[in-house]
Amino acid sequence: SIYGDYIKSVIRTVPNWPEQGVNFRDITPLLQNSAAFRKLIESFVHRYRDMQLDAIASIDARGFIVGAPLAYELGTSFVPVRKKGKLPFKTVSETYKLEYGHSEVELHADAFRPNDRILLVDDLIATGGTMLAAANLIQRSGGRVVETSTIIDLPELGGSQKIRDAGYGVFAVCS
Ligand code: IMP
Repeated sequence: SIYGDYIKSVIRTVPNWPEQGVNFRDITPLLQNSAAFRKLIESFVHRYRDMQLDAIASIDARGFIVGAPLAYELGTSFVPVRKKGKLPFKTVSETYKLEYGHSEVELHADAFRPNDRILLVDDLIATGGTMLAAANLIQRSGGRVVETSTIIDLPELGGSQKIRDAGYGVFAVCS
């Protein structure tokens, strides 16, 4: 992507967090740097400004950091995809497997109109389980996922490939 190398240079890796052996990719230095944060949003705006999107859906919670300014800039609606139990109205949900146990993402049943063109955004793709569950949930609810999009892809974990194999495009600002 246009600013990929630069964005990558302002992401911090925290070794052994949240547990031994995990390298956590931390975007807070990026967010702290106003020039970097603007370039991050511009990377998405540049890719999506001519794609006739109806809505930006993004995933609780770090996905919202990109999704909300992107929806504002592109003039689309904003759809929060939340962890189970956070949305007050009628919901639809999708369960997915984690390394240990399960998790669940939810949408409001009236979050968008049938056939709306929706971009799905999150901060990071690891195993791809979260993004894929959210994409399937949107499709199942009658939306069209134009692409899935992330700040960071960790391709060696195979998640982005799994999402592509399921038929969705994947855009990453950096890998
Ligand atoms: P996946 O479902 O295994 O692809 O994990 C992706 C989800 O976990 C995203 O919603 C991320 O916010 C979160 N996540 C996993 N690893 C990291 C990391 O290293 N940094 C930030 N978020 C992460």
